[in-house]
Amino acid sequence: NAKSAGGNAFRFYAPEMNLRATAQLALASALRSAIDNGELRVFYQPKASLCDGRVTSAEALVRWQHPERGMVSPADFIPVAEDTGLIVPLGEWVLRETCRQQAAWIAEGFAVPPVAVNLSARQFRQENLPQTVRAALVAAGLDPHCLQLEITESTVMHDVDRAVAMLRELNAIGIGVALDDFGTGYSSLAYLKRFPIDQLKIDRAFVRDIASDPEDAAICRAVIGLAHSLDLTVVAEGVETRPQLEFLRANACDEMQGFLFSRPVPAAEYAALLATGRVLSLDGD
Ligand code: C2E
Ligand code: MG
Ligand code: MG
Ligand code: MG
Repeated sequence: NAKSAGGNAFRFYAPEMNLRATAQLALASALRSAIDNGELRVFYQPKASLCDGRVTSAEALVRWQHPERGMVSPADFIPVAEDTGLIVPLGEWVLRETCRQQAAWIAEGFAVPPVAVNLSARQFRQENLPQTVRAALVAAGLDPHCLQLEITESTVMHDVDRAVAMLRELNAIGIGVALDDFGTGYSSLAYLKRFPIDQLKIDRAFVRDIASDPEDAAICRAVIGLAHSLDLTVVAEGVETRPQLEFLRANACDEMQGFLFSRPVPAAEYAALLATGRVLSLDGD
């Protein structure tokens, strides 16, 4: 590793970093054309109530159907998009496409719950974000209450005063905001109460071992209590097992999202799930 290699560490790392940089460049240029070539898709993952098992909302998650590589994970291309600035047109596409789809379902007579779109740090720093969001709603003819936004904890903590001002503008439009990946950033609890938000999403890393690890269990209990004392609803991310679900219900978590109920699915599959009225089974199978 770098430390044991001492002063010569760069010799060890340089070729590897070049390879990485080259791969990133290739990815960035392919991503640039992906939007125009219609290679991006939006998948939907429902969030379900832990009171009655009903779908409360869904999260829009972008997918890249690359002609040769197949489905590329957002974990691989979102960071590249963020570094190159491509996240701005990409994010705008996701926003517009999600609003269009949501409005289309409503026009077909579906009772669709709200949908949440993820915003990256760079998008959140765009001065004209409120105008972009408003334009997407207007273009689709969608009511603002049908749209939510997810912003990570680290994004808002970066510049608290600006974040508060931006969140107020989004609030004024009528859009709900969730704080994503909560627990992974460095939140000051004093700042947290200043943010006009609606929901906390407990990061998957804390949910994974809640049924077996007393420390993760304690953290989740504390976050649920914190959220409720601030009048926020709280969602657990990455719920995969019954014991996790039982823990969350026993500790008054409001909602869950995870493979236990549904993976992120293509639009048509999500519409089918809504049409059948499928609910999360709360009492075991
Ligand atoms: P995120 O917003 O925290 O989204 C949750 C991620 O957890 C998704 O990964 C989802 O597929 C995954 N997940 C959900 N339930 C489970 C589960 O039970 N088990 C496991 N193992 N995973 C689960 P995905 O779709 O790969 O997205 C990864 C990240 O990429 C997202 O994390 C978000 O930060 C980013 N992302 C995705 N779509 C967009 C987008 O349109 N715009 C922006 N800016 N970021 C996006
Ligand atoms: Mg999210
Ligand atoms: Mg999340
Ligand atoms: Mg997460």
